[in-house]
Amino acid sequence: MCGESSRHEALCAACDAELPRALGALCRCCGLPVPGEGLCGRCLRRPPAFDATHAPLVYAGAVRAMVLALKHGRGFALVDWFAQALLCSLPEPQADCVLPMPLHPARLASRGFNQAAELARRYARGVGLPCRLQDVVRRVDTPKLAGLRQQERKRAVRGSFVCRQDFSGQRIIVVDDVMTSGATLAELAATLKASGASAVTNLVVARTLRLPSR
Ligand SMILES: [Zn+2]
Ligand SMILES: [Zn+2]
Repeated sequence: MCGESSRHEALCAACDAELPRALGALCRCCGLPVPGEGLCGRCLRRPPAFDATHAPLVYAGAVRAMVLALKHGRGFALVDWFAQALLCSLPEPQADCVLPMPLHPARLASRGFNQAAELARRYARGVGLPCRLQDVVRRVDTPKLAGLRQQERKRAVRGSFVCRQDFSGQRIIVVDDVMTSGATLAELAATLKASGASAVTNLVVARTLRLPSR
């Protein structure tokens, strides 16, 4: 970020300390700041299909630049740094397997890699859980959701995923780089639960703190 020496780290200590982090009371379901303990109003009114969300960083400023660099293949060295952030955020998961947010095959072909799969693989290795890379397929290449209202986002992602395996009784950690509205993660969690999953926890590098209007 600043051009100073960072030795063997991706970031120097000063830049690391400046990163926007998710602090204070957070909704245990969706990870948004809440005034007290427990759930935010939105999750109370309409509980999403996932059960919990862990997001160590806020998707803003330098974190946003880092995530975009990773996504566009310019910051591949960052993948280890992000995976470490995930391990620190959820070091001892009560779960049976790790699953990356699947990328549509056309997107995978043009980009060459799925950043969520790279993160999930490293995280799974770190916590000693199996990583199920091929068990869910994205059959619809979701259009850009930016600018859509919450209900429109839900409609746009409906039916995006297909499970190729049974997940009966499985507690699953879903790994992704960014959570914005959570609509895509909610749709994936709903698909996993329809395939028998007993619990779904989102583990994302960063989340936005502002949501689209309803
Ligand atoms: Zn620096
Ligand atoms: Zn919430």
